[in-house]
Amino acid sequence: MRLQLALRSRGVTDARVLTAMERVDRSRFVTGTFAPRAFDDVPLPIPGGQTISQPSVVGLMTQALDIQPRDKVLEVGTGTGYQAAILSHLARRVYTVERHRALTRIAQANHQALGLSNITQITGDGSFGLPEQAPFDRILVTAAAEDTPGPLLAQLRIGGSMVLPVGVSDHVQTLIKVTRTDGGYEYDELGPVRFVPLVEGVEHD
Ligand code: SAH
Repeated sequence: MRLQLALRSRGVTDARVLTAMERVDRSRFVTGTFAPRAFDDVPLPIPGGQTISQPSVVGLMTQALDIQPRDKVLEVGTGTGYQAAILSHLARRVYTVERHRALTRIAQANHQALGLSNITQITGDGSFGLPEQAPFDRILVTAAAEDTPGPLLAQLRIGGSMVLPVGVSDHVQTLIKVTRTDGGYEYDELGPVRFVPLVEGVEHD
């Protein structure tokens, strides 16, 4: 309830997004000592030196994606699987790629425990996307790159859209929305954000 108020006050107003977020208990995705803070609108540490995203940022990104019930969605940067769980309530199918094997395993267990069967978790370098499942109706990147990765642009369906933070890590990054049209790509700036960096390669931890 408290979290829902925080979401609304930060501009998350889409009823479908609010309902999807209400259905996902964030405390399941936050480990150990940080669990009591799961319902605060803040990012929190997760294993691998990473963070679980701030709920209002998850809400604003999800809202900007305008996911339709038939959509196939790709998420880059699974973490412990919080954002993917929300996407799973809005889309037909969710593929989520994480470079830390240990986090993929945690996310898999979390999603299984919640009975979310339309999510596939993959360990890999998500900046290359997932060519074997492309094209995607929606793509969401939850780690910041200096530039939009080319393979992700190529794996977007015409008429589809992608939301991602762009900018140098540890500086203010900009959330952007890229829409693929018949003739090319349109870019909209959505505002400042701060994410962990998109890193090359895979960690077999
Ligand atoms: N979506 C998560 C956010 C996790 S933070 C949530 O719902 O809370 C971003 C994640 O992106 C980190 O776990 C990090 O390991 C991962 N990441 C960074 N670079 C990556 C890459 N190239 N491919 C896949 N995952 C990456």
